[in-house]
Amino acid sequence: MSTTTSPPHAEFGPVTVYFGEKTGKYPDGNQVTVRGRDALVAFDTPIVANRIGAAFDAADLVILGHVHEDHMAGLHRVPRAQVHVHEADLAAARSWDGLARHYGYTPEVLAGLKLKIEQQFHYAPRPDAVAYRDGAEWPLGGGVRVRAIHMPGHTAGHCVLLVEPQGVAFIGDIDLSGFGPYYGDATSSLADFRRSLAHIGELPASVWITSHHKGVITDRAKFDAMLAAFTARIDERESRLLEMLGQAARSMEELVRTRLLYPPEHDDLWVDCAERRSIGLHLDELIARGRVVRLDDGRYRALAGR
Ligand SMILES: [Zn+2]
Repeated sequence: MSTTTSPPHAEFGPVTVYFGEKTGKYPDGNQVTVRGRDALVAFDTPIVANRIGAAFDAADLVILGHVHEDHMAGLHRVPRAQVHVHEADLAAARSWDGLARHYGYTPEVLAGLKLKIEQQFHYAPRPDAVAYRDGAEWPLGGGVRVRAIHMPGHTAGHCVLLVEPQGVAFIGDIDLSGFGPYYGDATSSLADFRRSLAHIGELPASVWITSHHKGVITDRAKFDAMLAAFTARIDERESRLLEMLGQAARSMEELVRTRLLYPPEHDDLWVDCAERRSIGLHLDELIARGRVVRLDDGRYRALAGR
């Protein structure tokens, strides 16, 4: 018999949020469930899903807002539940090969990461996962429904899951953290993330739930302020990159070593890969805008600012 006690939680009508360690700071997350008259649904399955018990294990359906290891950590508990995922993240949910392409890291990093997520996140692919598209709706009975709104950038298939008519928005890894937006994977897109951030404030919501750390926000002004600060991290990174490239021409290797996103003491397996991908996305934008040039020797240099 398990003797675990239920994690702290909050309720908003049919929606329950179970808070992970440190309000869902990575590697944990916050578990959302929605109980309609006819079905119990889980949004993502972070590590904390393993400490909830029947209120999670009885889920009929898991709707993944996106695919990453820390959102799949409870799937092994619900083998009979249907798993729905946006079509752009479907391959990543169905197989390790799909997930490896989704990350896009080097083979060495991927090999280490696979072991790590099997041990730490109970990783198991879901070949039975089914695709949904932008605007998909799930009526749960009793007037409660879930709607998916495609908000890509973090991953290609990242979606907000909106519970209606209550106006509770699960905004996933648009997590409003101090770190800022993560767009370090092969299927991440900086341009898409910018567009998603520009539109997420338009959702008909009054409660916003993040996967990590910030948890639940119920105050519109506070949400707007947190969203603005989160969005500003992108421009702060861009300014820092321009500053680095204004001092001297630098190679990608030098930029990755210097780091744009993570503090020097942070060491996760994927940090160099994520730095390379993120810096590359910023460089693409800056080159397109005529702010940076790529020299013949492959190094990058900022042009005098306008
Ligand atoms: Zn994620």
